[in-house]
Amino acid sequence: MIDQKGILFILSGPSGVGKGTVRKSLFEQSTDLRYSISMTTRDPREGEVDGVDYFFKSREEFESLIEQGQLIEHAEYVGNYYGTPRQYVEETLDQGKDVFLEIEVQGALKVRENFPQGVFIFLIPPSLEELKDRIVNRGTETEEKVKNRLLAAKEEIDMMDAYDYVVVNDEIDHAVSKVQSIVSSEHCKRERV
Ligand code: 5GP
Repeated sequence: MIDQKGILFILSGPSGVGKGTVRKSLFEQSTDLRYSISMTTRDPREGEVDGVDYFFKSREEFESLIEQGQLIEHAEYVGNYYGTPRQYVEETLDQGKDVFLEIEVQGALKVRENFPQGVFIFLIPPSLEELKDRIVNRGTETEEKVKNRLLAAKEEIDMMDAYDYVVVNDEIDHAVSKVQSIVSSEHCKRERV
């Protein structure tokens, strides 16, 4: 096996589609991927832990990270910043380990510009109605925020063609096993002796 860099996998798709649930379930079953914990300026939800779910930052701190070039990408989403730390991703890939990002669509498109060799996976809901139910049932958002998230979701779904793979999240187990198949096949594509 010759020395090679790890593979960057990007799971994206509209908020509420279940990216977080798919990612968590994937990581319970798969130890070879490294999850890149994002930075955000949004307030922690109940039960969320700094440094585990996100690195929670003030707007000032976040803007200074942008200025210092410490983020691969960042996006402003429904009033808050979200971004991917550069150092962790680059160092981990250089060590030959795969990195997994779970990010929204604008950010994924920016990653595409800098990491064209990344593998871009788009998770979609079976329908928009289903997506609305999931966002409402999560119960963490006000009515106004639900509306904004749905509007964002409709725009995001239009970006589907920019991705390498589309996975329908009808059932978590199906979606996770499809993502695992994608990871395996991408390794087979790059396998060299
Ligand atoms: P939430 O506030 O529900 O945790 O996340 C809102 C959206 O931001 C989700 O679609 C989530 O995947 C996305 N997100 C999380 N981390 C990042 C990141 O580092 N960059 C970008 N662009 N989006 C992110």
